[in-house]
Amino acid sequence: MCGIVGFTGTKQAAPILLDGLSKLEYRGYDSAGIAVRDGEKPAEVIKEKGKLKVLADMTNQGKAVKGTCGIGHTRWATHGEPSAVNAHPHSSDDGNVIGVHNGIIENYQEQREKLIKKGYEFKSQTDTEVAVKLVDYYYKKYSQDPIEAIARAMVRIRGSYALCVMFKDFPGEIYCARKDSPMIIGIADGESYVASDVPAILKYTRNVYYIGNMEIAKLEKGNVTFYNIDSEVIEKPLTEIKWDAESAEKGGYEHFMLKEIHEQPKVIRDTINSVVTDGKVHFDSVNLTDDEMKSIDQIYIVACGSAYHVGMDLQYVIESLTSLQVRVELASEFRYRDMSLRKNSLVIVISQSGETADTLAALRMAKDNGVKTLGIVNVVGSSIAREADNVFYTLAGPEISVATTKAYSCQLVAGYLLALQFAKAREEITDEHYNELLAEINTIPEKIEKILENKERLQWYSNKLINITDAFFIGRGIDYAIGLEGSLKLKEISYIHSEAYAAGELKHGPISLIEDGTIVLSVVTQTKLIEKTISNMVEVKSRGAKVMAVTTAGNYFLEDTAEFVCYIPQIEPLFAGSLSVVPLQLISYYVSIGKGFDVDKPRNLAKSVTVE
Ligand code: GLU
Repeated sequence: MCGIVGFTGTKQAAPILLDGLSKLEYRGYDSAGIAVRDGEKPAEVIKEKGKLKVLADMTNQGKAVKGTCGIGHTRWATHGEPSAVNAHPHSSDDGNVIGVHNGIIENYQEQREKLIKKGYEFKSQTDTEVAVKLVDYYYKKYSQDPIEAIARAMVRIRGSYALCVMFKDFPGEIYCARKDSPMIIGIADGESYVASDVPAILKYTRNVYYIGNMEIAKLEKGNVTFYNIDSEVIEKPLTEIKWDAESAEKGGYEHFMLKEIHEQPKVIRDTINSVVTDGKVHFDSVNLTDDEMKSIDQIYIVACGSAYHVGMDLQYVIESLTSLQVRVELASEFRYRDMSLRKNSLVIVISQSGETADTLAALRMAKDNGVKTLGIVNVVGSSIAREADNVFYTLAGPEISVATTKAYSCQLVAGYLLALQFAKAREEITDEHYNELLAEINTIPEKIEKILENKERLQWYSNKLINITDAFFIGRGIDYAIGLEGSLKLKEISYIHSEAYAAGELKHGPISLIEDGTIVLSVVTQTKLIEKTISNMVEVKSRGAKVMAVTTAGNYFLEDTAEFVCYIPQIEPLFAGSLSVVPLQLISYYVSIGKGFDVDKPRNLAKSVTVE
């Protein structure tokens, strides 16, 4: 995830690039860079760590950089920490090809090694530099034709990309290629634009082309030519953008939260693909060896808020698949706890931002105790990522909405893969079972897509909840962990008092709060526990509660007890949480907007809690 802007025309490029990038800052903001060409002269590349403002100040808002053709980038690091060296644009050793990229090149290690053997040197840790140098390699090896060079590189590259490159021999031209990462091309009189998203160019033109997967485009001043992967020219329809700038920024969604809920299938797939190749989990990037996994006998999962709920779910998964003991701790408690940590233990800290103050303190405390640590983190180069012994990066991209959805889901799936790998390394799972479970994990993205297709039904149900003052979430095992997250989501964005209970606990107190019309949302996906939870649903129903259920397709008998049932696709119960949480996210979202609240920025809350 990042922002790309490119321009070729007769005006000065740098101010247009900076202005366009400023509209895309929500897509990434850890570093930024531009490359601008003045006629035939080689491109001038300026890049720096930090927000776009740093780059704008360095270049006097772009006025200090001359030239009418250029490309720019704001980065959201996935490979290599945020730094000036890792910032885009990247160029081939002799400056023949200069490029910016959005996405992830999954096989970059393999391609990098091949290029090193051919004499290429690498300055950065990024996957992008590999893509740029691969294009350069094919350009020089074959006919010095940009389209052919890009097409050949695309065939070699695995992963997702929106790539924009300039070739030294082709002044005034920008070449673009795309697979699974967004990119649009705009056209005006004598001018051509490329951008990751519409808001970047809306000020200049509303006429755009959508470049398809595995297609290439050549931009000249006021003219664009499209090619397929066989280098044949193809025609594309021109579309007129009718959105306003604000909804364009949200990809046409009304709010970032809804956009991020919808991004879940993609970012989960990216997170899975970052460690799964050839049907196996590979933890080289996480840096945790099989021997280390064998020697551990206790895991502490330490986190705050939703990340803590991820830990609650993972506890069940890890303990079910391995002989490991798992304790889940709130970071704010753990850090002040007077306890000795077991020698052969692993402390897993989970934090989207990698800067959560309590979680960071807990990590340091674990390290001071000589215990091995692993961070599950979304922000590359963040404090937790730097300080933990091992890091599993989730690839959720920037999350703007304060209430987490896609980062939570990626953390959960990262935890599943971790659990599976622990089981394998410790020889506690058969190969057959391992393969079955991995295949199940791979189905999560498409199953979430199915749930999202039916969101209108949830919206209809949510409208009935707009005026409630209290809600209870119940479930057992993993369903309880998901109830905790559903309850937090509802209270944080709709300001409705809400509690989650392990269903078996109701009788020990909370049931006294149930009265006529009290809303009870139950999560019922754990096959072995369904009957037990249904008994609890009946108990509250007979005291006047209005009960709804999220359950797995096939459990139609729940309609006898619940007045509204939402079905999720069938899945191995251990991984059901990654699906059952989605309807709960949507319900919270719809209730919040139904009440007219600012769903992306709930009162009193901050996105990352960097204070104690
Ligand atoms: N994978 C590239 C990097 O880490 C691009 C990330 C992005 O999309 O910003 O530099």
